[in-house]
Amino acid sequence: MSKTHLGHTARKRFGQNFLHDEYVIGNIVAAIAPKPGQNLLEIGPGLGALTDPVCEEVDALTVVELDRDLAKRLRHHPFHGQKLSIIEQDALTLDFSQVAQSLPAERGKLRVFGNLPYNISTPLMFHLFSHAKHIADMHFMLQKEVVTRLAAGPGSKHYGRLSVMAQYYCAITPVLQVPPGAFKPPPKVDSAVVRLIPHATPPVDVESVELLESVCAKVFNQRRKTLRNGLKELLTDTQISDLGIDPGVRAEVLPLSDFAKLANAVARNTAQEEG
Ligand code: SAM
Repeated sequence: MSKTHLGHTARKRFGQNFLHDEYVIGNIVAAIAPKPGQNLLEIGPGLGALTDPVCEEVDALTVVELDRDLAKRLRHHPFHGQKLSIIEQDALTLDFSQVAQSLPAERGKLRVFGNLPYNISTPLMFHLFSHAKHIADMHFMLQKEVVTRLAAGPGSKHYGRLSVMAQYYCAITPVLQVPPGAFKPPPKVDSAVVRLIPHATPPVDVESVELLESVCAKVFNQRRKTLRNGLKELLTDTQISDLGIDPGVRAEVLPLSDFAKLANAVARNTAQEEG
């Protein structure tokens, strides 16, 4: 299978799999529903598979592209001219809040989208979550397995740390499945598009998001362990049962609200130790 598409040879290190299926592209753009007057931002525009049709609908689009050659191509694009603002940078280190604040406020929060480089998609989403208050919504192409994990609920074998943390920040809706043949070169895995809408206020109160993360990391590290074993350095059996949670269960059955209770109990312990 050729790695060259529209005269550009795909770079594996940048996770380059270019969309070429017009039907799939049309469905993704319909899901994003871009409108003039909005602050749209694309991560990894590449050869413009999504950039071109989105640009047709809107009056302004900001794109973030790490590959110098692709950024250069976009700068010389024959049609998009004034509409495109190109940020040539690693999206993982971009201050999305600063970008949002530099754009016209009347256009609202950022609407972020992209066919993400799969090698960095999870850290990139977590980076975006840390800027969630400036983001209205996100539409991302990801590995299908990642979308399944993002959207999984308690009791599912796909439910884990990624599900709990992503659902703390966002409402998550799988939108569409995409087969490898829609890309050039085709990736080795199935893909899917997901919509993530940051919550206006978090669905649960947590004293510290870092503690929520570390509780999730501990209890999902060894999925077969009971809570009692996974949290033995942080909480006693009694402290867990006092929260109305059975210390003998496994983490994969607990809803987000229970993770919040556990994290807040750890925060109380830490405060007592320090006080
Ligand atoms: N949007 C195009 C499409 O759908 O055909 C390209 C998608 S391709 C899967 C991922 C794109 O992200 C590439 O253009 C790649 O160069 C760019 N990219 C990779 N790593 C990046 C990073 N850290 N920051 C910004 N862009 C990145």
